[in-house]
Amino acid sequence: MGVKVAKFGGTSVADADQIRKVEAIVRADNDRRYVVPSAPGKRSATDSKITDLLYLCHQHAQQEVPFEEVFSIIAGRYTDIVKALGLSLDLAPHLETIKREISEGTTADYTASRGEYLSGLILSALLGYEFIDPTSIIFFDSDETLDLKKTKERVGALLSRHERAVIPGFYGAMPDGTVKTFSRGGSDITGALIASGVGAEVYENWTDVSGLLMADPAVVDNPRPIDTITYRELRELAYMGAKVLHDEAIFPVKYSGIPVLIKNTNSPEDRGTLITQDAGPITHEKTITGIAGKKDFTIIMIEKSLMNTEIGFGRRLLTVLEAHNVSFEHMPSGIDTISLVIEDNQLVHKMGRVIEEIRAECKPDSVEVYPNMALIATVGRGMIHTPGIAARIFGALYKGGVNVRMIDQGSSEINIIVGVETKDFEQAIRSIYKSFVE
Ligand code: ASP
Repeated sequence: MGVKVAKFGGTSVADADQIRKVEAIVRADNDRRYVVPSAPGKRSATDSKITDLLYLCHQHAQQEVPFEEVFSIIAGRYTDIVKALGLSLDLAPHLETIKREISEGTTADYTASRGEYLSGLILSALLGYEFIDPTSIIFFDSDETLDLKKTKERVGALLSRHERAVIPGFYGAMPDGTVKTFSRGGSDITGALIASGVGAEVYENWTDVSGLLMADPAVVDNPRPIDTITYRELRELAYMGAKVLHDEAIFPVKYSGIPVLIKNTNSPEDRGTLITQDAGPITHEKTITGIAGKKDFTIIMIEKSLMNTEIGFGRRLLTVLEAHNVSFEHMPSGIDTISLVIEDNQLVHKMGRVIEEIRAECKPDSVEVYPNMALIATVGRGMIHTPGIAARIFGALYKGGVNVRMIDQGSSEINIIVGVETKDFEQAIRSIYKSFVE
């Protein structure tokens, strides 16, 4: 018998109907022994997430503005859930304590963590699984970074004594025992840590989409779902904006070699996307795994004759960026040219000075600035050793009438990045998708 860790996101626990689906999913497989819930999320597009409301209460309390009204919305949502599920659980004392602690000036982290805490109490009562507070198994160092070693040991030790448990997501404990949350969306990390600590067979991440799609459905009509993807491919696509998991959730499972299965609570029979270390060979017609892109970049192109022989040119250039606290994303180079691809937000109020200093320090023949650029990554393990992929991408862009301003093939050989003008962004993605899929 294997062990499965099932993490349920905010929409999966947004109300009693959703929580019933969670119950059915957990009961359908006896191996789903550890359950990690988020706080209730939005029930509709105009609804609020409990976590946001909790942060709001904290902010109000800090500014000495009454927060009772917002708090009663939170309390009402939980009480409705408990009632609709017919549980005998009495949340009133918990809600009272939380309210008092907020008014007495508790931390934002503690306040926000109560969303998951209360979800955990409800699921534990519903499933008959033990409730384990993550402050007893997930630990941060005094510098607020995760203590992975201690966490892994404690998760393993504690859970070996508990056959089945519900562990709220999103938080753990500082060395002095106070609550510390991960960054937003961090219940994914909790699930990954639990999966790694118990040596799970799979980490199931239940959400409201049936896995990853090959492209953004807002750009491409009905993109195909991705059945399997490697951690590395996912990292490349996620960096370019294709998000299903918190970035930091991949590392604990990756190092333990545990696959992640993204599933849809609202459509559990859908296959979902499996994220693994080695997803095996890819068939020829599907030589790419996915396409993703990001807007709002500037490319600075620096040209200087005999740049290739000039010692220290790169260092001087990067020193200018460092002096202005600017990070760059890519730096494709030619014989006499180097381009810096930089996110626009890095250059706010700095562009003029950065260019001036590049001129002064590097004495280039020319510096050209191309604003309004977008990057598009075509990612796939199937590209390795497969000839003709670049030809297909550039052929597609040519046919689509898209001018390519920059090309960068990552050394991993699973990613070809092109820089295009923002106005061509959608067209470029559609053209590449079409050339590989249709
Ligand atoms: N509830 C937290 C948030 O909204 C954490 C999570 O759901 O993963 O960010």
